Amino acid sequence: MHRLRIRRPNLNIREAGVSNHYTKRDTMELRIQHLSKTYPNGVKALDDISLTIGRGMFGLLGPNGAGKSTLMRTLATLQEVDGGSVELGEIDVLRDKVEVRRRLGYLPQEFGVYARISAYDMLEHIAVLKGIRTRRRQVVEDLLRRVNLWEVRKKALGGFSGGMKQRFGIAQALIGDPRLIIVDEPTAGLDPGERNRFYNLLSEIGEQVIVILSTHIVDDVKELCSRMAVIDKGRVLFAGSPFDALDEMRGRIWRCRIPRQRLEEVTATLPVISSRMVAGQPVVHVYGEAQPEGFEPAEADLEDVFFTYIKGFKTPVGA
Ligand code: ADP
Repeated sequence: MHRLRIRRPNLNIREAGVSNHYTKRDTMELRIQHLSKTYPNGVKALDDISLTIGRGMFGLLGPNGAGKSTLMRTLATLQEVDGGSVELGEIDVLRDKVEVRRRLGYLPQEFGVYARISAYDMLEHIAVLKGIRTRRRQVVEDLLRRVNLWEVRKKALGGFSGGMKQRFGIAQALIGDPRLIIVDEPTAGLDPGERNRFYNLLSEIGEQVIVILSTHIVDDVKELCSRMAVIDKGRVLFAGSPFDALDEMRGRIWRCRIPRQRLEEVTATLPVISSRMVAGQPVVHVYGEAQPEGFEPAEADLEDVFFTYIKGFKTPVGA
């Protein structure tokens, strides 16, 4: 069978897709307003969520059970909500599902693959399902190169490492030139090298479309996202840039190395954000306007931001 020869090894996402019909790409926003969802068992997974998300990488940070997947599945048109609205540019996401799906790339938390089929054949199959008719082979081949799976394109997916599977997941999400890309907990189970490659790939993509990265891992957001939200129990606790979040913490984070036997007492009496073991001894971070006795000022990091909000030491802002 004749295969198209690709001359340009590093194609960008627009070229890797099928079309260039989205002229309003730059001004496009995802507007989520007052979204609510209570499951039949009474769990309120989304409790009046409002967020506006523009082009670039957006980090949705929250602990397990915060409501991230519920929100991601809703945006991906896979789940109904009880109330609220979502718009992607001019599209009503909750109603015009077909329109959304045409513009959506989705990498779910559990990305199952058929073990025996090759990367090439699977990607081509997905392209058929997504309705890509013209230049299909070129689209598939461009994407395989782009996610660095060209050399292993004929290998069965079942033999792929976690990182390779994730990169394949990104390739399938990119088919069809999506304007909105959703990745749900993408780095779980990746080793540091694979994670780095995945980060690089995501950050390249993120410059041109809306990418929402849902994660409970603070470092994912720190390394990739120019905007973020912290959510917990279905509510937005912070929305803004990571720099704004850090600014708000400035002068309010205090650190002390304490003997292990004092940990319980300190945790009971002070707003302890975190305690990490350093060289066998707990180092405690505390949030507050005033410097607690024996503590020294510490520079805030995103982990402090995350736990300060999650533990309710700071009232929600910017949400
Ligand atoms: P996250 O992705 O942040 O871990 P989820 O959206 O999966 O959060 O879950 C939010 C809350 O809703 C959790 O308390 C979870 O147990 C609950 N939940 C999720 N899916 C269902 C479901 N299908 N039925 C009932 N409860 C659910």
